[in-house]
Amino acid sequence: MSQNAEKIIDHEMLFREPEYVEMFDNKKKNFEFGFPISKMEEIRDWTKTKEYQDLNFAREGLTVNPAKACQPLGAVFAAVGFAKTLPFVHGSQGCVAYYRSHFSRHFKEPTSCVSSSMTEDAAVFGGLNNMIDGLSNAYNIYKPDMIAVSTTCMAEVIGDDLGSFIRTSKQKGSVPEEYDVPFAHTPAFVGSHITGYDNALKGVLSHFWEGQERKPNESINFIGGFDGNVVGNMPEIRRILNQFDAKYTVVCDPSEVWNTPTDGEFRMYDGGTTKDEVKQALNAKATLSFQGFSTEKTTKYIAEKGQEVVSLYHPMGVAGTDNLLMEIARLTGKPIPESLEKERGRLMDAIADSSSHIHGKKFALYGDPDLMLGMTAFLLELGAEPVHVLSTNGDKDWAEKVQALFDASPFGKGCHVYPKKDLWHMRSLLFTEPVDLLIGNTYGKYLERDCDVPLIRMGFPIFDRHHHHRFPIWGYEGSMRVLVAILDEIFEALDANTIDTAKTDYSYDIIR
Ligand code: SF4
Repeated sequence: MSQNAEKIIDHEMLFREPEYVEMFDNKKKNFEFGFPISKMEEIRDWTKTKEYQDLNFAREGLTVNPAKACQPLGAVFAAVGFAKTLPFVHGSQGCVAYYRSHFSRHFKEPTSCVSSSMTEDAAVFGGLNNMIDGLSNAYNIYKPDMIAVSTTCMAEVIGDDLGSFIRTSKQKGSVPEEYDVPFAHTPAFVGSHITGYDNALKGVLSHFWEGQERKPNESINFIGGFDGNVVGNMPEIRRILNQFDAKYTVVCDPSEVWNTPTDGEFRMYDGGTTKDEVKQALNAKATLSFQGFSTEKTTKYIAEKGQEVVSLYHPMGVAGTDNLLMEIARLTGKPIPESLEKERGRLMDAIADSSSHIHGKKFALYGDPDLMLGMTAFLLELGAEPVHVLSTNGDKDWAEKVQALFDASPFGKGCHVYPKKDLWHMRSLLFTEPVDLLIGNTYGKYLERDCDVPLIRMGFPIFDRHHHHRFPIWGYEGSMRVLVAILDEIFEALDANTIDTAKTDYSYDIIR
């Protein structure tokens, strides 16, 4: 055996040992039908053609590699944003293991979340008993201040009614009658993780706000939306708001529990919006959402309660951040602090320093609709061309907003937006209309290899690089980081293309 206790070989090198090479060969012969490599190459090359692209774009009723996750994942994200709150998913354990591992792999932190462990009997007879036992166990073992309930597709397919299940569970003594159990139905076969975030957040707000009288004050609510950079973005937003000396509440803030220190104490709960803050948020003068598409139902509900609602789409870049600061200034009646004006000047300076390298570069990007809007606006501002902008969970309304950005910029000519398309569509686009750089989450890694286009990691999830989530991408400072990430990849590609000694290395420069 190549592997032994004296010398542990990591999988990177282990599977190159002779016994594994032989095993892979046998697998190919015996289980993969020994299909000729030449035929596979012929078909693979055909999938790179325009003919194949037309067939690919004509497909209906089949999604291949969607750039989205299912609703309950977003509902768990929303629940984690409230103080001492345990996310509880009514459904099977496997789904919840997926949410926990997804968040833990991205944020490199444990993510607490329980399920009602529905199995075959619950699928046939309904999951009421699972809810009764599950709420009781969760309440007694993990001692949360609040349990936020959502559903998987299994519970939705059989039509379990969360409202009546929770009422019955309380009558049976699972949790006290007055205990807070906000809930939201989050059918996984509709929408995406941002729909689940939206439904769950609205569920928490309506749990505390329904039947309450609103007494308006001068405070402003801020809602971040489903955001892979929340650990970096939320402190950055608080830093900006504190410079305004604004009275504000961040509604749903998981940035602390996904950023706990290693100091010997496990914090199952840390930070987050408290129940009192949620109740008070009803009285705010206005609510600003950083991601309009991620909070569509929530912001509609808030507006119905009488608050002014402002929806942004990832405030990135100079104009995006200007817009955010002007809205904060307008809503609070306070001037934009000089310190932030200086930050703006520094970002402008950095853009001017690097403009010649980014100008005219072609990009393809995919991800959540709000991130795509913010990133497209920033790229156009930099003089880059976002040639392919794709979002699996973006709709017609989103596509019109992206098109409006293209139309307002000379660099938007020849750029196209693709709502409700997946990463297999993107693959076709990258072969028939190649670009210089790709922007998206970790799953773009396979496109990077397949289509030979460098990937700049942005969005959720980022599994194969560490700690990106710790840094902001919003505001002038966050945009500076995005700018550096883009430039690093441009320079890496330039170095790789000029590395041949005595052939191309006349441009393998120290100064860029
Ligand atoms: S799609 Fe359905 S089965 Fe899959 S993880 Fe989501 S809720 Fe579970």
